[in-house]
Amino acid sequence: MKVLLNNSSLFESLRPFDDLGFVPTMGGIHKGHLSLINKSNKLCKKTIVSIFINPKQFNSKKDLKTYPRNLKKDLKILSKSKKVDFVYLPNFNDIYKDKKKSKIKLFKKDKILCAKFRKGHFEGVLDVMDRLTKIVNPQKIFMGEKDFQQLYLVKKLLEKNHKVRIISCKTIRDKNNVALSSRNFLLDKSHLKIAANVYKKLVNIKKNIKNKKNISSFLNLQKTQLRNNFKIKIDYLELRNINNLNISKTKKNSRLFVAYYLNKVRLIDNI
Ligand code: AMP
Repeated sequence: MKVLLNNSSLFESLRPFDDLGFVPTMGGIHKGHLSLINKSNKLCKKTIVSIFINPKQFNSKKDLKTYPRNLKKDLKILSKSKKVDFVYLPNFNDIYKDKKKSKIKLFKKDKILCAKFRKGHFEGVLDVMDRLTKIVNPQKIFMGEKDFQQLYLVKKLLEKNHKVRIISCKTIRDKNNVALSSRNFLLDKSHLKIAANVYKKLVNIKKNIKNKKNISSFLNLQKTQLRNNFKIKIDYLELRNINNLNISKTKKNSRLFVAYYLNKVRLIDNI
């Protein structure tokens, strides 16, 4: 596994390869990231993982400050996996030295779910993914369904602007079905127990949706119950179509999307 600390060593090392799989991350490497890496390793000749905490996608300074960072541990896990050929560790200038202002704007219909509650977040994500794709120039990019809206928006933009395919990968969960996330490192056992119970409740809600005439009022009621039972702040609980993310009136082709806070840590999931 070769560690690339800047763009010139990246350009030099990647030049010979034209079957490159790319797994962009913000570090805090866990089994969710490793599943993306495994898939890339299976489908591509070479796999490159980036670790870059992109300040421009954080809508809260505190979130950026407390975001889990442990580069030494991350490199150890990646190297031990034996599935990574290159790790790219750019600094801010490697990504942003092209000072052209980002023209990325979300359509009104995309200002839903996390885009509604985290102003500027996806503009930051789309800009950095556009820049990373230009720099790394991979044939495939592997992204997780855990961040479904991110996957949806990035796929739409990058497959239009670049010669690249976005490959979606299933959500990896812990033994209690809590979706793995770097932010889980900020939670203790008791919080993770609540997260496991929230997951159970979500499964139940999804199961019961099918007999409901008015899904939105049913979900509003469930949201209040979740809030009261688990003492959590909830940004949204919505059933949406997986192909266009419109509000869904049927379970078919739909997922239940949730965002909530535990210990001031914002968690998202979709089932
Ligand atoms: P992050 O480091 O959180 O920005 O995530 C990097 C990539 O890993 C994104 O494409 C995420 O969707 C994906 N990812 C994060 N958590 C999981 C998970 N539990 N299962 C599958 N993919 C994940």
